Amino acid sequence: MAKARNQVQEKLKLVDIVLEIVDARLPASSQNPMLAEIIEQKPKVVILNKADLADPKATAAWQAYFQQQGAASLALDAQHKSRLPQIDKIVRQVLKDKIARQYAKGLQQAKVRAICIGIPNVGKSTILNRLVQKNIAKTGDRPGVTKNQQWLKVNAEFEVLDTPGILWPKFEDQTVGTKLALLGSIKDSLYAQDDVALFGLNYLRQYYDQRLLDAYHLTSKDLTLSDPDLMMYLTKKTGLKEDYDQFSTRFILDVRKGRFGRLTFDQIPEGAPHA
Ligand code: GDP
Repeated sequence: MAKARNQVQEKLKLVDIVLEIVDARLPASSQNPMLAEIIEQKPKVVILNKADLADPKATAAWQAYFQQQGAASLALDAQHKSRLPQIDKIVRQVLKDKIARQYAKGLQQAKVRAICIGIPNVGKSTILNRLVQKNIAKTGDRPGVTKNQQWLKVNAEFEVLDTPGILWPKFEDQTVGTKLALLGSIKDSLYAQDDVALFGLNYLRQYYDQRLLDAYHLTSKDLTLSDPDLMMYLTKKTGLKEDYDQFSTRFILDVRKGRFGRLTFDQIPEGAPHA
């Protein structure tokens, strides 16, 4: 972990701005807790990627939250956009004073340099590829993998480091691990499938109960069952008899594939203003 941190710190010296990539479905849980500390005062833009899978209302609320924290943000679907001009635009906006200073010095062209940083699987490589419209080989998703740094040209005035900064997720927090497992961002084998499914069921009944009712044709009375009882009931109802493991696996895949619609699994911290 120290190695990953040192590497990111070294790379940070080379850039003007950090593109912090998070999963829009987990805007807090997919952040690395060390990042704020490492980047100190360096400008950053939080990119809520995979916004196509996240609850749009929640995404708007999270963007308002980040703004209130003093960070610019952008909601993105990197997979279905052939180019990502929004990133260039927001970077220029955040660095407008720096750019103006460069022009004031008489430079013909301003130049700003960025790095993508985030935990594995949030879409860093996809974003890099879209930014430069090339197929850049994905580096190993292990903090600690190094190679020579190169700058990729987004346009004449904007360059991005060819290798993203990779940091670990907040593994020490059990709930964070369960959420990342639910969305397939960490190895399935790290967490018991039934625990992950139970967590998901509980979260849906708490925040998206109507979607659960509709998907399984339930009545509100069914939702008074305890989580394990509800799981047993749904396992039977879906024809899987007592095969809770299979139900868990199916339920988790359904969450990931969007059977319950676009979902966000992090709530804005208490006390923060909502959008
Ligand atoms: P990295 O580990 O952070 O570099 O993540 P990748 O770029 O490899 O992306 C991880 C997975 O998420 C891949 O299967 C991508 O196709 C997918 N992905 C990336 N961005 C998006 C997005 O905006 N929306 C959706 N639905 N999938 C995405």
